[in-house]
Amino acid sequence: MVPPSNRTEMIIIGSGITAAAVAWSYLEECRRSNAWHSIIVLESRDLCGGASSRNGGHMKIIPHEQFSELRRSHGEERAAAIIRFQLSHIKRMMELCDARGWDMAECRKVVTVDYFLTDEEREEAFAKVEIVQKYIPELEYTKFSAQEARKKFHVNKHVKGALSYVAGVIHPYRFTTCVWDELLRKYKYYLFIKTHTTVLNVVAPKGRPYAFQVIVDQIESRTFECNHVVHATNAFATQFVPGLRGKLTGIPGTVSMMKPGKLFNESDHMESWSIFYGHAHDYAVQRPAVDGVQGDVILGGGFSRSEGQGASMLGAGGWETLMQWSGIMALTGDKLPFVGRLHPDLTGRRPAVSEMMHPNHRPGEWICAGYNGDGLMLAWLCGIALGIMVAEREHVDRPKIAGRPEGPLRSWFPPEFLPTGKRVRKTTFKNLGRRFFWALLSKRYVEPYPDNDSLDSSIYDEPILPMFG
Ligand SMILES: Cc1cc2nc3c(=O)[nH]c(=O)nc-3n(C[C@H](O)[C@H](O)[C@H](O)COP(=O)(O)OP(=O)(O)OC[C@H]3O[C@@H](n4cnc5c(N)ncnc54)[C@H](O)[C@@H]3O)c2cc1C
Repeated sequence: MVPPSNRTEMIIIGSGITAAAVAWSYLEECRRSNAWHSIIVLESRDLCGGASSRNGGHMKIIPHEQFSELRRSHGEERAAAIIRFQLSHIKRMMELCDARGWDMAECRKVVTVDYFLTDEEREEAFAKVEIVQKYIPELEYTKFSAQEARKKFHVNKHVKGALSYVAGVIHPYRFTTCVWDELLRKYKYYLFIKTHTTVLNVVAPKGRPYAFQVIVDQIESRTFECNHVVHATNAFATQFVPGLRGKLTGIPGTVSMMKPGKLFNESDHMESWSIFYGHAHDYAVQRPAVDGVQGDVILGGGFSRSEGQGASMLGAGGWETLMQWSGIMALTGDKLPFVGRLHPDLTGRRPAVSEMMHPNHRPGEWICAGYNGDGLMLAWLCGIALGIMVAEREHVDRPKIAGRPEGPLRSWFPPEFLPTGKRVRKTTFKNLGRRFFWALLSKRYVEPYPDNDSLDSSIYDEPILPMFG
């Protein structure tokens, strides 16, 4: 629907899962408080045309790894709270899909299995599991020795052990578009989406009734005016937030979709898999079967390996590569997302409207971005939190509804994600560089397939994973 006016309370730049969550939450808060405001969504490409339609659908974090990193910077208690927040995405998104009957989103809980290719990596992961379970006792793990892993998962001799725990899988494009579809029906007078509309600039001119002008066409000076600008552009967020340059950046990712070979060990689409290569890992999930035909396997990563180990292995062993694609994810210097109000020092713009004109709604710019490749375990609830913040209803004790936690915001949202001045000043990519350097020094960077066997035989004759049969 065409917006009736170019003036609105809120403009969301981007239309991925973050933007959908912000709109869902903000309009829900408007409904609850009976204070109605409109939103215009401006999207460069097709609806949900960014990373939210290009990702592998794996709702997975590696809790023991994450805990080990987060406890150093935030302490055990906060590390546990952040991990619980991330893991709660599986429950919240599943309950929303169940409540709405969005079966097409294929949202489900799975058992995820990590395969280790060295004894050292297995032992290191097992030790970290012991620690995380002390602080998050509800986390259930099963450890497998090399022999047990071979027996249980039919993997080859290169696998030196495995770990299984909880994760989820979703069809992210369908989930996001289901949300937009519901919102457009429910709030048809308050939500307007303009696709193929690239935002070129955001300015805060003085003497206007609205705080910001969002310019989408410089030649014709086509602008929209609003009191709130939400930057839901993930990897592209620094375009209009110069203060976050060097703190948030984009990195490419790749995914392929494959029809599994005959020897594929059926998982009934209730498992997912990751192979660890020392400094990185690849993952695979399987879509549900249709009419008795096995679901396609989505393989995340796999392109970055060297000759004979990367893209060239896709499609081997009776597998058929159906599609390959890429997209841009966002990395932050401290590996946490930025969620909250942006200080004018970060945007270079100060909203000109006096607070007298908007006693209940202090105008401003907001960000919800930087998920470090784990967007499906962050974007939904971060977006929900941001919608509540923009509506200035953080302290309201919310009732339980499908898709978001109950209670006031502080009871479930990690304040570590706020883009505070102190955090932004400290955040730098030098930390990541340093971490990688120390990992190299401590020989944690291992060559894939350390047995030194020819890769061709390891992949083609004797599959590492059941999926390469
Ligand atoms: C290849 C790949 C695989 C991934 N796999 C996984 C996975 O398995 N599990 C997981 O948890 N995460 C994964 N991710 C990360 C996940 O997809 C993202 O974290 C998540 O989708 C981010 O959602 P978003 O809505 O914030 O951003 P996006 O979906 O990227 O939306 C941002 C939107 O902003 C629009 N935009 C940008 N600039 C402008 C502008 N100037 N004007 C108008 N519009 C603009 C873009 O067109 C885009 O549509 C993967 C990412 C990629 C790229």
